[in-house]
Amino acid sequence: MEDADQRYVAPGCTLCREGAKLVLFVTGRCDRGCWYCPLSTERKGTDRTWANDREVSADDDLLAEARVMSALGTGVTGGDPLLALDRVVRYCRLLKEAFGPDHQVHLYTGRAPTDDELDALVGLVDEIRLHPPHGDWGRILETPYPDAIRRARARGFAIGIEVPSLPGIEGLRPLLPLVDFFNINELEWGEASADGMRSRGLVLADTLGNAVAGAREWAAPLLGDEKVRYCSSAFKDAVQLRERMIRIAVNTARPFDEVTGDGTVVYGTVRPAGGIGPAVAALGLGDGEYAVVDGAVELAWERLAAARAGVGGEKAIVERYPNRGMVVEVIPL
Ligand code: SF4
Repeated sequence: MEDADQRYVAPGCTLCREGAKLVLFVTGRCDRGCWYCPLSTERKGTDRTWANDREVSADDDLLAEARVMSALGTGVTGGDPLLALDRVVRYCRLLKEAFGPDHQVHLYTGRAPTDDELDALVGLVDEIRLHPPHGDWGRILETPYPDAIRRARARGFAIGIEVPSLPGIEGLRPLLPLVDFFNINELEWGEASADGMRSRGLVLADTLGNAVAGAREWAAPLLGDEKVRYCSSAFKDAVQLRERMIRIAVNTARPFDEVTGDGTVVYGTVRPAGGIGPAVAALGLGDGEYAVVDGAVELAWERLAAARAGVGGEKAIVERYPNRGMVVEVIPL
């Protein structure tokens, strides 16, 4: 994160920083065609729902994902969630009923919500983040957004702007007195937006991340305002995602798994040449000190490393994302 600690921070951002916000991707549908759209080709245009990386086919999928990360709030995103308003209402009600009214919900939309849409969200969504079309930024006071902001505030929503850093962002300055917060996301290179970026002469800032060169400079004229918060691409990866992984790892780790500072888990695995029982006996493992998974014994990696000469078969130390997620590294022993 940049130098924003002293400034107003949207309540939804505070939880996001702690990795405590579940990302509810309600639909990939959207009636806009922003050239910088960050959606993946897998999700863009589809009408499927995801809770973090888990596809939601039933209510239990959403609740299970919220529980596995001990979510304290949810960010509803898309696509444009307002194109699936019934689903938003259903899922937000489910979350509020399961985790209580303090489960903080923010909703992102590219539209200026109507009265009916706002009324449907009262009590279910706490904070609304508007993303007016880039083409309107230079004439924002002539668009429906200022009125939508006033109508949302009158209903008690926290209301703000959330846009990527793009040339011309200063055009949104007249909205600052009307909103509670103004979030600027560092423009990121995406697989679906790469052609649009290239055709505008944009390039990556460096080879380490997805940030687009020049993004910070475009946002610079607004960064002095106390309502403005700049969310860098590196911060999202380094802090938000890591903190969420740690929460999931701590909740799902077995007694013998080691949880790393990156939120991965590390354990030892042996596929014993002489059968499971003799290997467990040779390693001196008691209840809770191992698990049998697909014909292999999984146990604390230090224990396997120390006793590896006493048991035959394929042995390795495994590091992976939590909850049986992607394998990061396998070190043969
Ligand atoms: S409004 Fe958002 S989801 Fe829709 S095209 Fe633009 S960036 Fe993509």
